[in-house]
Parts: sequence; C-alpha cells; structure tokens
Amino acid sequence: WVAASFTKQQFPLARLSSDSAAPRTPHFDVIVVGGGHAGTEAATAAARCGSRTLLLTHRLDTIGQMSCNPSFGGIGKGHLMREVDALDGLCSRICDQSGIHYKVLNRRKGPAVWGLRAQIDRKLYKQNMQKEILNTPLLTVQEGAVEDLILTEPEPEHTGKCRVSGVVLVDGSTVYAESVILTTGTFLRGMIVIGLEMHPAGRLGDHPSVGLAQTLEKLGFVVGRLKTGTPPRIAKDSINFSILNKQTPDNPSVPFSFTNETVWIKPEDQLPCYLTHTNPRVDEIVLKNLHLNSHVKETTRGPRYCPSIESKVLRFPNRLHQVWLEPEGMDSDLIYPQGLSMTLPAELQEKMITCIRGLEKAKVIQPGYGVQYDYLDPRQITPSLETHLVQRLFFAGQINGTTGYEEAAAQVRILAHCNFRLLRSRHSPASASRVAGTIGACGDCSEPRLYYCTPVWAREQDSISKKKKRNNLLVFILRFGIISKNLFLDLPHMTWILTLMKLSYICRALDVLKYEEVDMDSLAKAVPEPLKKYTKCRELAERLKIEATYESVLFHQLQEIKGVQQDEALQLPKDIDYLTIRDVSLSHEVREKLHFSRPQTIGAASRIPGVTPAAIINLLRFVKTTQ
Ligand code: FAD
Repeated sequence: WVAASFTKQQFPLARLSSDSAAPRTPHFDVIVVGGGHAGTEAATAAARCGSRTLLLTHRLDTIGQMSCNPSFGGIGKGHLMREVDALDGLCSRICDQSGIHYKVLNRRKGPAVWGLRAQIDRKLYKQNMQKEILNTPLLTVQEGAVEDLILTEPEPEHTGKCRVSGVVLVDGSTVYAESVILTTGTFLRGMIVIGLEMHPAGRLGDHPSVGLAQTLEKLGFVVGRLKTGTPPRIAKDSINFSILNKQTPDNPSVPFSFTNETVWIKPEDQLPCYLTHTNPRVDEIVLKNLHLNSHVKETTRGPRYCPSIESKVLRFPNRLHQVWLEPEGMDSDLIYPQGLSMTLPAELQEKMITCIRGLEKAKVIQPGYGVQYDYLDPRQITPSLETHLVQRLFFAGQINGTTGYEEAAAQVRILAHCNFRLLRSRHSPASASRVAGTIGACGDCSEPRLYYCTPVWAREQDSISKKKKRNNLLVFILRFGIISKNLFLDLPHMTWILTLMKLSYICRALDVLKYEEVDMDSLAKAVPEPLKKYTKCRELAERLKIEATYESVLFHQLQEIKGVQQDEALQLPKDIDYLTIRDVSLSHEVREKLHFSRPQTIGAASRIPGVTPAAIINLLRFVKTTQ
C-alpha cells in the first residue's frame, strides 16, 4: 500500500477506542468517517446489510449533533424525511422520539408543497441517535481523527485507478476495509468566523479536519470552498414573549415516520414558537459595520437556502424579515432565533438583537458565527456516490456541498443504499440508475412532491429490517393491489361509482379512492386482513387519498421525466440567451445558472446544482418546439 499523504493535524486528538480488545490493524468491510447526519445513516445501512462496519468519528459524544438549527423538515425537506423513512433510515424515527413542536407547513396550499417540520430537542435527539448507533449489530464505533487514506496500487483491469483499502488515524494507527465512506461535513479545513476573527474549527468547540483535506487535494480531487452560518443563542428568560405572535403546534401531531401513528409527546405538552420581525435599525447596524464582518465580504458562496441576515439586508434592502424564536429543548434555557444567522462582532450582535421587538432586553449566551470549509465538487462522484478517481472511496453529505441535515441523510439512504451489499464484495457498486429514474429525476429538494417513490423498490433492499419491509409491502399492495368488486357491493354509495368505472370484477384501491365519496373507512370494509389495519392509519389514509386524486397528474409528470431521460443528449442552441428568452417558465435563479454554465445538452443542464427538474422539463419543451 501507499499512503497518499500523512500530515499531523494542528490539534491532535487522543484516540479512545470503545473496544479495547480491538486488534491494532483490524479489517472491516466498510469504514464510515464522520458521525453526523450522513455518517449515522451510512453506518447503520451498511451494518444492516451484513457488512462489518466501523464508524470512525472525532468524538462519541457528538454523534448525531445538530450543528445549527434545532429542527428537521420544512418546505422542500419534509418529503426527504419521508424518503429516508421509507428506506428504514434513522432520522425520521428519531425525530418522532425527540420533537417538541410538530407542524405541517403550507397546509393551505396543495399537498405537493406541504412541509412536515418539527422543532427538535437537541439533547434528546443526540441521546436517542447514540443509543440506536451503539446498539446496531455489526457496527463498531470508535473515536479518532482520520488523517490519511491507504491506497492500493492500480489494478490493470481498472484503467489505472487506485483503490482505497483503509485509513490512517492521527496517532499513526491504521484500519483496513474494502470501502471507505467520507461524511466529514463542514470539517475539511473548517474555519469559524466572527467579525474579523477567524479560528480553525469544524464547528464551535470541534477541531477541523486538515490532514484529510490535504490528502484529498493531493490525490487530485477538485476542492471548492463553501460557507454557512448560525445565529446567536438567546436566554429564554430575557425575552418578552407576551407581545409576540405565538405559534402553537398541530393537534394531532403528524409523525415523520410512516411506522408511527403518534409521536412521543402529546400536542398539549409541546412548546410554542414565537414570531417577530427585523426593522430598519437592524439594516442600519448591518450596513454600518460591513467593514467589521469578513464572512460577508468573502466571495465564497454558501449552500442554498441558508442566507445570513447580512446577506438578506444586502440583497433585499428596506424589507422586514421574519425571525422565529424557537425552543432548543424541553429543559433548555436557550432560544434559537431562526432567520438571524450572523457573523458581526459579538458585541454588535447583542446591539442588533436588542433593537428587535420582544428582544429589547435579550441576553446573548452564545454569539452567532460563520463557518467556511472545503467541499468536493460533486461531479467527481458517480450516482452511487463513489469517486471517479479512487475505487471504493465514497463521499456523502455536506462534503458534497449538500444543504441541511435532511439532504445529507437522504443522499446516503437514497443513493448509496442500494450499493452496500456490493460494497463488501469485489463487484463494482451497482449503478443507481433505477433510483435515478425516479428519485434522482425529482431529487432536487426544492421540488413539490406528491409521491414517495422509495417504498416500491425499498422492499428489495437488504438494509431494511424485516418489519419495515412487510410494512412497505402491505402499503404497496394497498395502493396498487387488486380488490374484488364484489366486496364493495354491500356499500350503497359504491354502487354508482363502480358502474361509472365500467369495471367488471376487479379494481385497485387507487381507482376507487379518487372519488370524493370514498374514504378509507369504506375501503376498510372491502379489503382483506391484514390490510384492514393499515386502512385505519390516519396518515396513510391521507397519503393514499392524495395519490388517488392526483394519479393522472403524476402519470403525466413521470412521462415527462422519461422524456427528459430519453433526450439527455439533446443539444441546446448555442446562441440561446437564458436571461431574456420568453415563452419558457424559468425562475430568475435558474436563468442565471444556465446563463453562467452554458450547458451543451439537456443532460448537462439537469446536472447543474439548483436547476430544478421542473425547469428542465420546461426547457426541453421549449427547445423541442423551437427546433
Ligand atoms: P456533519 O453533521 O457536519 O458531520 C460531520 C462529522 O464528521 C462530525 O461528526 C465530525 O466530527 C466528523 N469528522 C470530520 N472529519 C473527520 C475526520 N477526519 N475523522 C473523523 N471524524 C471526522 N446547513 C444548512 O443547510 N443550513 C445552515 O444554515 C447550516 N448552518 C450551519 C452552521 C454551522 C455553524 C455549521 C457548523 C453547520 C451548518 N450547516 C448548515 C451544516 C449542517 O450542519 C449540515 O448540513 C449537516 O450537519 C450535514 O451533515 P453531515 O453528516 O454531512 O456532516
């Protein structure tokens, strides 16, 4: 083997093995580096497939840590939680055991844009996640900082590509494995920023990962820089909630996991959130102090959808911005002001906060800060997340420039999931094209979604428990299963519907549920055991009713997705001016991205981050009609 590089980290961490009997150079099937949202999903999925898995992470006590907001889900993210759940992932189930305020956003709009969201008790989430991880069979968890990769010489049949065969830790010890998955989040050469001060850190209180970043660069990976930030935390008892708008949780709570009918806490015991707004004084403080705020001046861009208050003020001057005051936990004294992510010097942060209504006497307990970190250009990985440069080396989560906990978890569960059994053996990882056809094609997290594709193929995956597989299968049968028409005959309101459908003997549950008059109660009488039980599940009833109502729209959308796949190679006109073309519905953001990237084909356009599947369908239609 050859070590790609070996550089001692600036802040060496002591290696504490949770298993003192472990041999010095143990051999695993899979090593997962990082115990964040991507790493925990990757490690459990691999272990459940029967792979002897090692989760190597800086600290056991930060496994499952929520680095920024104390919430999961929301518009464009709630459906990712559902996908993770369909694949028997962890975060949806753990959220149902740790939430303190559950709310479905956008209820007044159509079901495709509903956003299931919950405030989460940070401490409880971490505890529940760590319990799950430490009790997963075949999964060994060990503290340690990975500094370097062990590579084997290229095999002739693999066109000169070298292969990863293990990792080197900061203390020089080595661990071998068939595959290595890096889920290092914001830690690669991480720097935190407050005002004009910068310190090396992966996040507040955690060392950065410098040696590994250097290794990846030396190997020839294209490395970019991203930035993001977090708001200050405020003492709860210093806020005047009585003058603010109160938001109460939903009653009943909607769980994230389809296997749960309820969450761990009653709605009446959940905590409220409060709404306040910024004002012109906030803008003034931001604008007057730009020279003291290096994070804002940096040209590094952030991942999507997490703008700081400074960037909102600069981009949308003279507007009042919403600030949600959210609880950090059941017994926490801290409030998280969602919408006030900032990197002003600490003393100015309190000055700004106290100009906001309800926060006049607010005490800042921990200042907001920014983080800048290396990410790996995602064009260097295949759809199964394996790197093009090094065989059996995988990148997952924020290291690929994803945004948020949900996307990190979903990326692992959805795309890498189908490969873990193969990761153990000598075969090449399976292509994720089956997945790409459904999830991948609608994988942009901002897209409205009506339908969860994963249960259909998730049934076949090894990484899913037997109980979950059975559940998925029954839901599948209920959705598409054929029901004898005779079973409906004793239901008076069904008679005319069946006549209308001109069906002779049999029909699908979805065929009858699309009629307004038919609900799950009537269906319950017509389906055999053991499906009856599932018709009583409120969440499932709602989901199937929605699917039935929109089935034809969905069919049309899937046809369009197929069309895009068939026309991947279609050339885009060289002289097209994306900023001004009419007769095609494209958002300003998409127009700008196409304008700057100038993709040659529809396929290339669809791979530009932020160019949504809906935009691609519109663009394809436009190009075809104008050719
Ligand atoms: P992480 O959750 O960061 O987990 C990485 C794990 O890898 C950690 O456990 C770390 O200890 C471990 N690790 C790293 N390097 C090594 C190594 N060499 N050896 C061993 N272990 C290692 N995202 C947003 O989308 N919006 C935001 O507004 C936002 N704000 C943020 C603000 C801050 C201050 C920070 C720090 C992060 C923010 N994030 C934000 C990012 C958010 O935390 C991630 O989206 C999410 O945590 C990604 O999950 P992950 O598993 O990829 O990485």
